[in-house]
Amino acid sequence: MLIAQNIKKSFGDLQVLKGINLEIQKAEVVSIVGKSGTGKSTLLHILGTLDSADEGSLIIADQEISKLNPKQLAKFRNQKLGFIFQFHHLLNEFTALENVMIPGMIAKSNQKQLTNKAKELLDYFGLSDRLTHKPNQLSGGEQQRVAVARALINDPQIIFADEPSGNLDNVTSEELHHLIFKLRTDFNQSFVIVTHNNELADMSDRSLTMEDGLIKK
Ligand code: ADP
Ligand code: MG
Repeated sequence: MLIAQNIKKSFGDLQVLKGINLEIQKAEVVSIVGKSGTGKSTLLHILGTLDSADEGSLIIADQEISKLNPKQLAKFRNQKLGFIFQFHHLLNEFTALENVMIPGMIAKSNQKQLTNKAKELLDYFGLSDRLTHKPNQLSGGEQQRVAVARALINDPQIIFADEPSGNLDNVTSEELHHLIFKLRTDFNQSFVIVTHNNELADMSDRSLTMEDGLIKK
């Protein structure tokens, strides 16, 4: 599903990634742990094609990322990849349903199919009575489930999550973690998750530790 080889990245004089090698299989949940400032988010952004590496190669779903021009890359990212962030970045002026539909609208999917799919996803997440609520009318856990539904709207090959339970309370975090593994079971969904949460790291198929710009052996 994803093969990263010898990924290197510096910001000025600071070399943050020193040659990362990583493979993710289909339906695999891989967590990345490590101290603050070790480059976990930087790695996740590069794997998610949101930032580019200085060196190394990245292949996702048989596509070599460096061969795509910016327009192709934007399309690839929108159609094949999903993202869940700690601060969910839902758009406050749109309803839950509209927020879930946004990545599909960018992909210019059929509007009616898209609406139905977004409703199905929100139903799957137990949010069918929250379709017209705005984000500020939803609880933190509900907002995060909307964000997960949004990440799924284009059937991504892989979902990247940066501290997805970072600003949730324990009970809500646990719900989110169970949801992640339910998606893995129900849809063979692959995940790469940066987390400080030990429970989530322990539940993962593999938990990798980053240290000093490398994945610790
Ligand atoms: P983590 O997610 O593990 O806490 P980050 O990947 O966010 O770590 O950051 C790793 C290091 O790279 C930090 O020292 C951070 O200050 C630096 N860094 C991250 N992004 C940038 C950037 N855009 N410009 C300059 N330095 C950055
Ligand atoms: Mg980070």
